[in-house]
Amino acid sequence: MNATVIGAGLAGSEAAWQLAQRGVSVALWEMKPEKRTPAHVSGDFAELVCSNSLRSDQLENAVGLLKEELRRLGSLILEAADATRVAAGGALAVDREGFARYVTEKLRAHPQIAIHTGEVTSLPEGDVIVATGPLTSDALADHLAGFLDRTLHFYDAAAPLVTFDSVDMGSAWFASRYDKGTADYINCPLTEAEYAAFWTELVSAQEAEVHGFEDSGVFEGCMPVEVMARRGLDTLRYGPLKPRGLRDPRTGKEPYAVVQLRRDNAQGTIYNLVGFQTHLRWPEQKRVFSMVPALREAEFVRYGVMHRNTYLDGPRLLDRYYRLKALPRLVFAGQMTGVEGYVESAASGFLAGVELARRLRGEPPVDFPAETAIGALGLYVSNTSVTNFQPMNINFGIIPPLGYKVRGKRNKNAELSRRSLEIVSGLTL
Ligand SMILES: Cc1cc2nc3c(=O)[nH]c(=O)nc-3n(C[C@H](O)[C@H](O)[C@H](O)COP(=O)(O)OP(=O)(O)OC[C@H]3O[C@@H](n4cnc5c(N)ncnc54)[C@H](O)[C@@H]3O)c2cc1C
Repeated sequence: MNATVIGAGLAGSEAAWQLAQRGVSVALWEMKPEKRTPAHVSGDFAELVCSNSLRSDQLENAVGLLKEELRRLGSLILEAADATRVAAGGALAVDREGFARYVTEKLRAHPQIAIHTGEVTSLPEGDVIVATGPLTSDALADHLAGFLDRTLHFYDAAAPLVTFDSVDMGSAWFASRYDKGTADYINCPLTEAEYAAFWTELVSAQEAEVHGFEDSGVFEGCMPVEVMARRGLDTLRYGPLKPRGLRDPRTGKEPYAVVQLRRDNAQGTIYNLVGFQTHLRWPEQKRVFSMVPALREAEFVRYGVMHRNTYLDGPRLLDRYYRLKALPRLVFAGQMTGVEGYVESAASGFLAGVELARRLRGEPPVDFPAETAIGALGLYVSNTSVTNFQPMNINFGIIPPLGYKVRGKRNKNAELSRRSLEIVSGLTL
């Protein structure tokens, strides 16, 4: 039983490990240190290119649930994260170098894994997992685009997304500007003092490096909100935070400034922050954007990003196990499937690796239902009813509701996690 894994990032490392642990001989190809993407700097595998946080470790949070599922199912990425964690409150943050070294040593020492250094520029024969990430090298991205007859290079300049449930509608209201058309926007007002405090933090917040935006034309066309804010105290009030035509029903007056939220999915469970494309670091986005009173408790289901992103049109091309529907010997994993985030990438690598190993052993796939975070991600990526497919972090919005009432959001989320972990404990991999 043989398989090839291309890319030893978060997804490829996990996929290779799951295959090897199930007796499959793995050829793991990684182009570092011979060649590096614009974001990778070390020679180790599973390099965290930006934040050293794997986000919340609480079960009331969907990414906390995803981590716990992976932990219980024997994920290498979670084992490495737990072994190298650093103090970070309710989050799982890691010693970046120690984490990557741990994963690298484990993979190098595994008797079933042969490591090959070099850029892969075309798809090999046999069973393959492609996990070359959002910054897949140009040669391979071009080859894949030709093979799939699709464009794969996208410049992601996305604003953050929040859940509707987490917006404080006690201090926000639905309306369109000048009450035109239907009341589609959620308007989040700020007083002069709140605006000044928000602006001060926004202009000094820590930024992530921007990769793939070397083309300044692309960059100008989607100016980050923090860059616009630096042009002057009032620039945002004449731009995306303009209050003109928005009368707060509680005061009967136009507020000093307004952040508008626009519906991002058909169900109205997810909203985006209009005009808030940003490349602030993710924890900084949470800290600063939560200063808007209606967003104080906001649950971010995706942070704003600005980077080149190579990803597939999952709903058209992939099945729930990340296999190419038209040619199942080809499996994709990680950010290039349209999942977003370190843990989500590892989770897709986990599922892709487990499924491929089972297929090679003549076993049926394991059914990870939508009630589990691992299953929900695979189902989201392959959901054929989705139009305008966008990469997504794990969130409770893509997990089916409980079907019974639980008071309080934290309690409800804890119950969703309990339900999932019960299912996971009954799975045999
Ligand atoms: C600039 C940037 C910042 C990000 N910040 C965060 C963050 O703070 N938190 C977060 O959760 N997520 C973040 N992400 C999103 C995402 O979760 C990470 O990119 C994550 O590392 C994706 O995992 P992956 O395994 O799909 O890809 P990667 O971890 O990027 O792994 C892909 C691997 O494939 C290798 N490779 C590429 N092409 C080839 C080839 N042709 N042949 C052989 N090897 C190849 C690369 O060298 C790399 O090692 C960020 C993404 C980017 C681009």
